[in-house]
Amino acid sequence: MPGVDMAQSRRIGRRPWRRRQAITGCCPPLALSRRIGPPPWRLRHAWVEARCRGIGGCPQGLVATASASLSHGRQSALMQAFHSDHFVLPLPAGHRFPMPKYRLLREAVARDLPQLRVHEAPPASDGELALAHTPAWIQAVAEGLLTPAQQREIGFPWSPRMAERARRSVGATIAAARAALAEGVAANLAGGTHHAYADRGGGWCVFNDTAVAARLMQAEWHRARRALLRVIVIDLDVHQGNGTAAIFADDPTVFTLSLHGAHNYPARKEASDLDIALPDGCGDADYLAALDAALGQAWARHGQAMPALAFYLAGADPHEDDRLGRLRLSADALAERDRRVFDALHERGIPVAVSMAGGYGREVATTVAIHARTLAQALASWRRWQHPSRASPAVGALRGAAAVEQSPR
Ligand SMILES: [Zn+2]
Repeated sequence: MPGVDMAQSRRIGRRPWRRRQAITGCCPPLALSRRIGPPPWRLRHAWVEARCRGIGGCPQGLVATASASLSHGRQSALMQAFHSDHFVLPLPAGHRFPMPKYRLLREAVARDLPQLRVHEAPPASDGELALAHTPAWIQAVAEGLLTPAQQREIGFPWSPRMAERARRSVGATIAAARAALAEGVAANLAGGTHHAYADRGGGWCVFNDTAVAARLMQAEWHRARRALLRVIVIDLDVHQGNGTAAIFADDPTVFTLSLHGAHNYPARKEASDLDIALPDGCGDADYLAALDAALGQAWARHGQAMPALAFYLAGADPHEDDRLGRLRLSADALAERDRRVFDALHERGIPVAVSMAGGYGREVATTVAIHARTLAQALASWRRWQHPSRASPAVGALRGAAAVEQSPR
């Protein structure tokens, strides 16, 4: 039972659902929600499920979600985003990880993007983490049993805060994915820890937030609808999403796309469903052309069975001033990259949870500004999801199909 343990749920008794959510840090499981009545998002899901019953594999349902929210006046006035930057790691002096960027990004959002409502992320539970990680790895991180070699591979010394931060980062992507399924777009102000494997960390990644959230959304979707949720991971961090590729290597329900520098970390790449390895010094035009081709190929390979949820890792590290990336993208090209991804997903009615992933600019302010522009593009896309009159023709057509399906019979 993801998100809440049984002992805890028994202790909670008959407290109202909102109080229960505050205690457990996530939505209640179905058994609880039956006793206490469905929370708002389940009502919305049930309504959508009834609305698009019979339309297989359907992004239509998700389009209908936004439409349902609108027709019932329930949609949020603010785009949802989640952060975990209160959990700062005690790193040795001179460590290259840019810990302050997460707080600075949250402050930039508060200042410049007031239409984002930023929540502190709940921690992912052991049960949630176990959807993508081995029990031994979860226990080693939770209890401080990591060997010196394992800590070196991660790049952080173990501490209780390190373990808590890793859980919160996963919790933020889970929360963003749930919000995206309800509203079209939502964000994690951190996350994108794509170098974590099922049984080990690496490259400053402890748990794989995308993998855990993808598996959990598939489980919740199946529980609510008895249907398969296909997922696409669009990983545009400059480093290959090796952990994500390995976790989903034998899973045809999750499509992994990685566009990365050929000579960047990790030295040994895994096989994603679609890998595009770019040469050192790749500039704006070549990058954007490669992105368009990759997205086109991803949609073509899905055929009629399109994904109904996307995770977008919008790394800032392809930027020309990044210390670790080897590409030469301008900030404007990165914003254009983000716009193309959000537009492509919106046109196909695919909700998206976006995470910031890497960014190691020589000046941290440069990286924060790139992430903030990603969030501004996410917000622009979120607005389109809330206004059916301004939706693309493709979404309009899907919405029309869902409306027909709603007719009494
Ligand atoms: Zn990276």
